[in-house]
Amino acid sequence: MTKIIFRSAFQYDTILSELAGHKLERDVFKELDVFVSEMQKMWDEYNDIFFSYFESMGITMPAIWNVYPIHSNGKITSFSEPTTLIMKENRDEVIATLVHEVCHVFCGLDQNDVVLSPIWERVSDAYKEEELVVREHIFVNVLARAGLRRIVGQEKAEALLKMEKDYEGLEKAWRIIDGSRSVAYDEPLKFLEELTEEN
Ligand SMILES: [Zn+2]
Repeated sequence: MTKIIFRSAFQYDTILSELAGHKLERDVFKELDVFVSEMQKMWDEYNDIFFSYFESMGITMPAIWNVYPIHSNGKITSFSEPTTLIMKENRDEVIATLVHEVCHVFCGLDQNDVVLSPIWERVSDAYKEEELVVREHIFVNVLARAGLRRIVGQEKAEALLKMEKDYEGLEKAWRIIDGSRSVAYDEPLKFLEELTEEN
């Protein structure tokens, strides 16, 4: 099963910060170390539950997956490859972002094509008038919601997702998802199938 490892990569943090026009002081790397160890401890509680859930659907990742937290620099947002997360005070929010980015990774790996491609084609076709970023996020958000519900529970997951529903690029995708009659929140592939049937 996959294990996520949080990495304290201060050179990476520094370079991304410099690209965004910020210079990180040497002493802030301590913050990176503390953040990494706290997040690792928190994620370790969820790791096996999360990946065994997706494995049960035939969705997998490499055995070790590194995740790189960085300081907020006002420009760069979190992204999936290499999995890079903005450090935030609210650790639950970081977990929600990690789940989102990991779901992008699932979609980008050839090993998941057998399971994900047929349903992606249906989503992409059903919403072909939407921009690619919207279509991708219909797919990713439904997977991420299911994964987050599995590890933090329904109530907390929905509260965390509420925050991202206003983000540019995600807002339209969420509106489409939330408009669905499907209630298969914990069976994301079924949810997506039902969603495409409604359109
Ligand atoms: Zn995304």
